[in-house]
Amino acid sequence: MSDKKGVDILDLIRKVLFTDFVKGLKITLGYNVSKSITHRYPDDEKWVPYRRFRGVHTLNRDEKGRELCVACELCVKACPTSCITVVPMEDDTGRGIADRVAKVWKVNLVRCMFCGYCEDACPTRAVRLGREYELACSDFACTVRNKEELLLPQPVPESIEGGLVAKARLERSLSGIKVTADLKATKKRAW
Ligand code: SF4
Ligand code: SF4
Repeated sequence: MSDKKGVDILDLIRKVLFTDFVKGLKITLGYNVSKSITHRYPDDEKWVPYRRFRGVHTLNRDEKGRELCVACELCVKACPTSCITVVPMEDDTGRGIADRVAKVWKVNLVRCMFCGYCEDACPTRAVRLGREYELACSDFACTVRNKEELLLPQPVPESIEGGLVAKARLERSLSGIKVTADLKATKKRAW
């Protein structure tokens, strides 16, 4: 009984002195004077993800420039959303590492859930999930990426570790909106 009385008195003192209100105010004022962590994307800054990030697919070549994809279609079978299309063809010109190459290799990014099963299934490490994440576009056709686009060198090279912020610029033109990042001007940020 006496314990209960003691608790009630303490509670009353807290209420009279507005201690909970003061605690809340202290947190609010703390945020007001703390350093801002606003990310100025896309006008000034762009986040460069870590290497393990799973963004838009890339198709890779070996050191001699030959296409690594042998059109085995294992990625097609592994894909849970059936968003990859591969059409094989014979080509002995040395374009690929084998005589079987992909005539068509395309991925529908609207259906893709970036699970990475396709890269896990690939026996030649031809398909990888890259670090591009700017997927918004106004034309539905641009949500499908074909082989020619995926074989282009990646905007963020493998040599860059990631996990940092790069200086960037938003460019508007008749062909659309593009974010250009200066990967030489990067900085780490403690979030
Ligand atoms: S990341 Fe997953 S969903 Fe996307 S294409 Fe690969 S297997 Fe399919
Ligand atoms: S990307 Fe890999 S798994 Fe898919 S068809 Fe080419 S070699 Fe086979």
